[in-house]
Amino acid sequence: MSKPVSELDLETLTSPNKSIFHLINWMQGLELLHWSMQCEHCPNVDMEFKKKRDIADKFAWRCPVPACRSTTSIRAGSIFQEFPKVSLAIWMRFIQKWCEDKLITEIQNELRVVGFVGKKTLSAMCRLMRRLCDFKLIDVPVVPMGGASAILEMDESCFRKTPKYGRGRRPKPIWVFGIVQTDVRPAIGYMTVVERRDQATLLPIIERCVLPGSTIHSDQWAAYRNVHHLPNIVHHGTVNHSQNFVDPTTGVHTQHIEAYWSRKKAKLRRMRGCLPTDLESYLKEFMWRERYCRTSNEGLQNMLKYITEKYCM
Ligand SMILES: [Zn+2]
Repeated sequence: MSKPVSELDLETLTSPNKSIFHLINWMQGLELLHWSMQCEHCPNVDMEFKKKRDIADKFAWRCPVPACRSTTSIRAGSIFQEFPKVSLAIWMRFIQKWCEDKLITEIQNELRVVGFVGKKTLSAMCRLMRRLCDFKLIDVPVVPMGGASAILEMDESCFRKTPKYGRGRRPKPIWVFGIVQTDVRPAIGYMTVVERRDQATLLPIIERCVLPGSTIHSDQWAAYRNVHHLPNIVHHGTVNHSQNFVDPTTGVHTQHIEAYWSRKKAKLRRMRGCLPTDLESYLKEFMWRERYCRTSNEGLQNMLKYITEKYCM
């Protein structure tokens, strides 16, 4: 996908009164769907793009060999073969709404002009988007970060929503450890769910995620006591949060990461929380959005480009 995707084209072509042929053609042009298809039964035979009235997509690939005549979906080998019952128009608008960082209920409402999709399907589609975020962060790792002259901030934060009127056993808290860069506004960072907040858990993460020569700031949590011994840390500055937010002599503070946590938690609150087992994947989504979706249009371009790279090339 070389040229940017026009949101206007997307909205026009996915309108209910538009012919699906133009939408398919446009999606093929963007390499979201394949331009050509070979028959899996006949070696080196290119299939023909044919009208097929009895299916929702209205078109299919058909093998021209008379003895074969097998057909293949136009969605074969594309992301759209996942959730085959979701129309291409809905699928495209879903990706657009997801990039706008809408909640599932909001996405469902806004898709109503093109069709109905159940919340279960939408939440599974969102999970697929989070998986793509995860893949992208594996392809282009966000850590290690920092380096000579860089100042990083680290912190752990409790992400488990404690039920106010819950009965019985209180659920185990869920801790997330994070490191942010302080030279970018708003801060971008790395975060991961941790089983414990002890030295044995946190030091290896800091060693893996921080480039040599970095300065790192944190509060005085006991597990950080030996951070200055790590080979990649040149200086570890701390602030005693029981006394000050900013250390009066050194100026050390952790306000970037605190603002970072509150942005992430605001999103989770808007979602009314998430399943504990899904949290790590949401952290990946948040990290992806910080880097590739600073505006919804940037997100749409990056996501569609990544989809073509992952599926159609
Ligand atoms: Zn064939």
